[in-house]
Amino acid sequence: MQVLILGGTSEATALAQLLARRRDYQATMSLAGRTSEPAAQPIPVRIGGFGGAEGLANYLTENRISALIDATHPFAEQISKNAAAASEVTGVPVCALTRAPWTPIPGDNWTQVDSLVDAANAIGTKPKKVLLTVGRLGLASFLAAPQHNYVIRSIDPPADVGLPRVKVILDRPPFDAESEERLMRSYHIEVLVTKNSGGKATSGKLIAARNMGIPVIMVRQPARREIRTYTKPNDVMIWLARQAKILQAKEEAAEVADVPVETGDAE
Ligand code: NAP
Repeated sequence: MQVLILGGTSEATALAQLLARRRDYQATMSLAGRTSEPAAQPIPVRIGGFGGAEGLANYLTENRISALIDATHPFAEQISKNAAAASEVTGVPVCALTRAPWTPIPGDNWTQVDSLVDAANAIGTKPKKVLLTVGRLGLASFLAAPQHNYVIRSIDPPADVGLPRVKVILDRPPFDAESEERLMRSYHIEVLVTKNSGGKATSGKLIAARNMGIPVIMVRQPARREIRTYTKPNDVMIWLARQAKILQAKEEAAEVADVPVETGDAE
């Protein structure tokens, strides 16, 4: 059975590792092509956009994909919408593999907001030293608050959006709480701004902020996609097994329909 994973996350890679061991699935990983050195994958990879929902639907049909898994980042809204739309048009079943959002626990000092611009405004008017871990593509939102000193951490170098006081740190997850605490101390960080991506790979900064009494401005995840959603790769494997059975039953029914009907003609 041909499977397409929309990836770009550690969850997608974990699922690919399970699928790579199976001969009954031929899985392909699709990446947007945003990072210059994407993580290695144990299955074939295709890179680049499809050309909207219609392009994705065409890809599914042309490549005889029988199951689509949206394992993209919780903040990658457009591709998830496209996946749902392409599934509806083609009838190819889709499910999502994602992470539960982080939730505050006692000791946390979070301000939760709905967008990056709201996050910029929530830092306050007084200039502060801010650790910004929101990815490199949304940085222009912080032009709404240019008075702060931003320490920006991203995997690839961000474009210069015109913020006057910026220090860029290039690094890739996972990050543990100890190294995050060291980083925050060395830059005298007063506020952490982050998207609520969930997952363990980048949650060390929240532990560090809690231990150090640093306030966190947390951008909430966009509204969840209205499709069957799992948080464990093994549950996706169970879903895939179910889709394989449905597909087999459909193929058997189609074969029966092709058998010429007995006419019962008289001699
Ligand atoms: P997005 O806004 O939802 O998608 C924009 C366009 O990029 C899509 O319409 C699609 O182009 C293309 N695209 C996105 N993901 C793709 C994939 N896996 N395979 C092929 N094309 C894809 O996405 P984004 O927020 O820019 O994120 C891009 C990728 O980075 C995603 O795959 C996501 O998993 C990963 N990522 C995102 C974040 C984040 O914070 N947003 C963080 C970590 C990783 P077409 O319409 O032409 O098909």
